[in-house]
Amino acid sequence: MDYKILATKYGTPLYIYDFDYIKSRYLALKNAFSARKSLVCFAVKANSNLSVLKFLANLGSGFDCVSIGEVRRALLAGANAYKIIFSGVGKKDEELKEALQNNILMINLESPAEMLRLENIAKELKKQARISIRVNPNVDAKTHPYISTGLNENKFGVEISEAKKMYLYAKKSEWLQPYGIHFHIGSQLTELAPIIEAANIVSNIMSELKALEIDIKFFDVGGGIGVIYENENEISLYDYAQGILGALKGQDVTVICEPGRFLTANAGVFLTKVLYQKLNSKKRFVIVDGAMNDLIRPSLYNAHHGISVVSKQNGEISNENSVQNLNEISKADVVGPICESSDFLAKNVDLPELKNGDLLLVKSAGAYGFSMSSNYNSRLRCAEVALENGTDRLIRRRESFEYLIALEREFI
Ligand SMILES: *Cc1c(COP(=O)(O)O)cnc(C)c1O
Repeated sequence: MDYKILATKYGTPLYIYDFDYIKSRYLALKNAFSARKSLVCFAVKANSNLSVLKFLANLGSGFDCVSIGEVRRALLAGANAYKIIFSGVGKKDEELKEALQNNILMINLESPAEMLRLENIAKELKKQARISIRVNPNVDAKTHPYISTGLNENKFGVEISEAKKMYLYAKKSEWLQPYGIHFHIGSQLTELAPIIEAANIVSNIMSELKALEIDIKFFDVGGGIGVIYENENEISLYDYAQGILGALKGQDVTVICEPGRFLTANAGVFLTKVLYQKLNSKKRFVIVDGAMNDLIRPSLYNAHHGISVVSKQNGEISNENSVQNLNEISKADVVGPICESSDFLAKNVDLPELKNGDLLLVKSAGAYGFSMSSNYNSRLRCAEVALENGTDRLIRRRESFEYLIALEREFI
């Protein structure tokens, strides 16, 4: 792909997503579970662009949503309502109501209090609510503490004993229908053992529920499959699926998984332009036009994103090791224009001499990139472009200043 042409056509900074890659990942995951009924529910928070959602919906994907805004996005993108799950620790009454009215597959409950709210709302609407309960299996996912969610010290899910009580309550309720069971122990998982351990724990709960005549139809293993940003261990999809299916021996359920990052992280790059170089006695800084408001993962999680230079000759990415004259390469921090010391995209990376106008590619930026972006420093959120079958198309316009101030202007 000629990134120089894309930069000229759409401007920078710019997110670019390879839809063919998303498709190959989706199909690989479906294929891994082919021995069973399965439903892949893309975690919308990872990349909520409508065109990405529409592309996935057309492949048959379902969606895991954590706000009614995400549910609306999924529906707007053409998702089948019966493939939408609504999760999250703090759903509001209006959100629960709208989710029920839209007949989504199920509402994933995260506390007994929430269950009682939902029961009331279902009763008001005279509509039975299909529920799932997010169980906290108390398994250490061995990932970054900010994205680890499966321990009792985390705010997510309910403890096993509590979950059983909730299912019993729901079974007796006229307005609640136990439908699924859910866990999600964390993100960017690079070890299989914790997921399989959790799957076995939750599968056992399901057997116990069955003995109580509570019939669970969907076994939801959450998302969290890790991807390679740098040199991480990648979980084998085959082993992942086999491990989960192994935990489900003798159980007649549909497996749901909720990948976010797995489907889109490495489909995306963030293209940014060099503004200046700056040297001080300690450091070399490459100042670019993209910043933490566009891609916050480095600042938020100290996340690593590979950086490569778009070479001058042909606009193709050059391999980091073969960049121009090796003598010119030195360590640099790639930083943005925002007034925060944490505004960096990469630290201590090897880069050749660069000048104003050179382009850098920040890799693995297709998940939790644009979807976590903001307008901090009154920066306009950048454009997004899709690549499909060798052609590029705009899927989100760059924001304008008028758009930025639209909700304030009338008050001055
Ligand atoms: C964040 C999240 C996901 C997706 O996580 P990834 O690491 O992007 O796969 C799936 N399910 C739930 C409940 C989540 O909170």
